Amino acid sequence: MAFDYPAPFLLLARELRRLPGIGPRSAERIALWILSNKDARPAQLAGALTAAATSIHPCAECGFFATHDLCEICLQPSRSGREMCVVELATDILPLEKTGSFRGLYHALGGRLAPLDHVGPEQLRIEPLLQRIRTGKPTEIILALSADVEGEATTNYLVEILEPLGLPLTRIAHGLPAGGGLEHADQITLQRALSGRRPVAER
Ligand SMILES: [Zn+2]
Repeated sequence: MAFDYPAPFLLLARELRRLPGIGPRSAERIALWILSNKDARPAQLAGALTAAATSIHPCAECGFFATHDLCEICLQPSRSGREMCVVELATDILPLEKTGSFRGLYHALGGRLAPLDHVGPEQLRIEPLLQRIRTGKPTEIILALSADVEGEATTNYLVEILEPLGLPLTRIAHGLPAGGGLEHADQITLQRALSGRRPVAER
């Protein structure tokens, strides 16, 4: 009979393997490291995982990561009644925030229209966006979606339903890189995209 690691080890390796970018070999290596390295702190790791997973949830307003009902950005009183920047994903917010050139509120849609993957307007946070616009009355709505086909289709859809609201409606100069890859866009590029935004009517 062929021997293998004990069952708790295999369970650990199997859970690690479910993480993105971790193959079977890496999972085994990480499991061995956790179990045999004196610097490993398995209890702290388990505690941090549980604490993060149970205490962090999407902000009820913008969709960013929050530990309370609202995130730190939405809680800043100076931001309400200003511009609202619409992005695809919650992970798009921080890179834009780090440019330092935007001090309004954000709204993450939770994705973009993708008919082939059965993602229609109902699957995105579009109705909450309309509600926020009605109650928050932003001075301008900035569309900051990705530059690929699905991002463009989503932008066009939003323009159609937002234009009748009569608020200033702009889009950033260059679309964002697709798929939440904003870490690859440097701050200056993002800053230029934001400051070079144009009214959608000029399309
Ligand atoms: Zn928020």
